[in-house]
Amino acid sequence: MALVPLPLDLEPIARRLRVRGIVQGVGFRPFVYQLALRHGLAGWVRNDGNGVEIEVQGLAPALGVFAHQLETEAPPLARVDGLEMHDIPPDPRRRGFAILASAPGPVSTAIGPDSGTCPACLAELFDPADRRWRYPFINCTHCGPRYTITARLPYDRASTSMAGFALCADCGREYASPGDRRFHAEPNACPACGPRLSLLEAHGLPVLSRDPIASTLARLRAGEIVAIKGLGGFHLVCDARNPEAVARLRSRKRRPDQPLALMFAGLPSLAPWLRCSPAEAAALSGAQRPILLLGKQPGFDAALAGIAPGLDEAGAMLPYTPLQYLLFHEAAGRPAGTAWLEQPQPLVLVMTSANPHGEPLVRDNTEALARLKGIADVLLVHDRDILIRCDDSVLRWRSDLPGGLQFLRRARGFTPRALPLAGEGPAVLALGGHFKTTACLTRGREAFVSQHVGGLDNPAACVALEESARHLMGILQQRPALIAHDAHPDYYSSRLALQLAEELNVPTLAVQHHHAHVAAVCAEHRLEGPVLGFAADGVGLGSDGQPWGGELLRVDGAACERIGHLAPLALPGGDKAAREPWRLAVAVLHALGRTDLARTRFADEAALGPVLALLDSGRAGTTTSLGRWFDACAGLLGIVRRISYEGQAAMQLEALARRPGCVPPLEESCASAGPILDLRPLLARLIQEDDPAQGAALFHATLVDGLARWIMLHAQAAGLGRVVLAGGCLHNRLLAAGLRLRLQGAGLQVFEACQLPAGDGGIALGQAWVARQGAAADSTKAP
Ligand SMILES: [Zn+2]
Ligand SMILES: [Zn+2]
Ligand SMILES: [Zn+2]
Repeated sequence: MALVPLPLDLEPIARRLRVRGIVQGVGFRPFVYQLALRHGLAGWVRNDGNGVEIEVQGLAPALGVFAHQLETEAPPLARVDGLEMHDIPPDPRRRGFAILASAPGPVSTAIGPDSGTCPACLAELFDPADRRWRYPFINCTHCGPRYTITARLPYDRASTSMAGFALCADCGREYASPGDRRFHAEPNACPACGPRLSLLEAHGLPVLSRDPIASTLARLRAGEIVAIKGLGGFHLVCDARNPEAVARLRSRKRRPDQPLALMFAGLPSLAPWLRCSPAEAAALSGAQRPILLLGKQPGFDAALAGIAPGLDEAGAMLPYTPLQYLLFHEAAGRPAGTAWLEQPQPLVLVMTSANPHGEPLVRDNTEALARLKGIADVLLVHDRDILIRCDDSVLRWRSDLPGGLQFLRRARGFTPRALPLAGEGPAVLALGGHFKTTACLTRGREAFVSQHVGGLDNPAACVALEESARHLMGILQQRPALIAHDAHPDYYSSRLALQLAEELNVPTLAVQHHHAHVAAVCAEHRLEGPVLGFAADGVGLGSDGQPWGGELLRVDGAACERIGHLAPLALPGGDKAAREPWRLAVAVLHALGRTDLARTRFADEAALGPVLALLDSGRAGTTTSLGRWFDACAGLLGIVRRISYEGQAAMQLEALARRPGCVPPLEESCASAGPILDLRPLLARLIQEDDPAQGAALFHATLVDGLARWIMLHAQAAGLGRVVLAGGCLHNRLLAAGLRLRLQGAGLQVFEACQLPAGDGGIALGQAWVARQGAAADSTKAP
């Protein structure tokens, strides 16, 4: 583009350009305007349903440079996915460059995700001479809320929850000045015209305070629990260095063990507590501002008791709203400028989602008063409505993964960003599974995966899934041609699929859970043709009606064949067994003929007798889930007998396994007989292990070795060179990184989820992909 030949004459030419991608609400039109002025071009720019449309007229070389710079110099939050242009007849009367009103018509563009406060806004926020000094809703076209305040497209102020705030003269001037950072910044506001804070007592009456920020900090310092309205919902916040406050928050939220996320003023404030590499620091400081899991520094647990019990990492994030920054600013004594952010600040806050009883995140002020009753002592709210609920995203740095980041939860900062697909296809809506649910809607070559909705075991979460699905259809203006869902008929997501299909009069497709897990990775990496998939998971219904979760699958688009699986493990007590690892330990001991040991080790369990009787009867259900083998091992090594959150036993086992460092695998401990891999011999070797950390390390090393050999054997037998690793167990780094290393070492190509969680947060994409591959019915065959 840069090498445009000089025209022989100096007649102007004209072109129409179409820019696709994230180009609305990110300062793209003022950028185009300024670029056009710089190159002396006439014409106009406007938003429409397809992105941004531009007409420019001028000399050919200038037009060439202009088109090149549209892509190379786009604003920080913009993402140009496509640029098309064609010549149009020049108009000799055309003068000047204008920004036109949005074109009406069908909508097919993407809106940007919410984004953390930018450095320019921070500088104003802490400048006592600035008119927005300490204003909690400062933003510009490079930062601030987007997705969570937008009801529909095109992205204009009237479509957002800022519609009710009329711009004052000063803000209006900024909004209308093409040279201003706030030109067409839709959420633009100031203390004179914008949203305001209020601090409410738990019963709803306002706290008599001249300064809600100062009063909130005082209440936090006094050990109280404050509900604070954020970008995509409320957080429950307390002083992380006050163990009584943390314990109170845990008991009120009925969350005894689940790790709590921390917020630090800046990277230097985090350094004493958590290890943070330059890559991790970059991820923490990016515009998405995710929660990043970081390794604990020595002394973490002593000083920050109860934050992440039993784990060797904790979730951390940096402030991303001006309001959050202001709490740290207040604690630092309201310094002028931003230099204080580069110095260690003692305040550390617990920032956990306000989602009582596993229900969806609290979003409205009135909802907060009702649903956080008995949990929050005081509520810091404001009058800018959150239209779309969106949790914090949770990621981890994994240097062996392409792109480096592994998603554990994908939400704020990333949704509604589209994932590019390999090809065109019909619009498909997919509704996910039961745990960590998301919805997905495809449009053309893109897939839009909703923010994390969560587990569907309460009515409010079910409503939230339906809302998410309808919002996707509305905002993308897509009527699905097909609705895909999990093969489990009792999941709410499956019932919702049938209900929506009837309403829209479109067919449905049931996709086996682990087929969807593997398919999600295929979709993300745009893999065509057959792959060997290893689904290492908690649980999903298999096509033989049994709970699966350790499956070797040959996946070729819509076709899926089960070619191997882990040996079944008894589940004494069904769902209870998944919450009580001791039951699985007993099941393993029973299977190994060591009932004597079960009787001595678990003598104090009241249910031991009935559990053994059930195992004797042979009537206990079984599963092939790898997740349950992790539970069994944790139970056997005495690490945890009962869990209070999903994945707890495996996470604690992994944390312990890292203590002894690298250990060699136990020889001949995973017995592979044809398609079945039996892990009982491995657990038999761990029975006498007294040191839980050593046992955990041996378990991981031997498991990785056994699985890798088994996968390599079947890859060779099936003639497949590409292996997809998927499922919730891949959130375990020792397992994921270990398998990747071994399989790659054997010359196999390895693919994992990189843009979505490997667990159930990704299966909606997999279901949509399978549906797109033209499946007429669930084609998974039992062996
Ligand atoms: Zn900004
Ligand atoms: Zn104003
Ligand atoms: Zn799953």
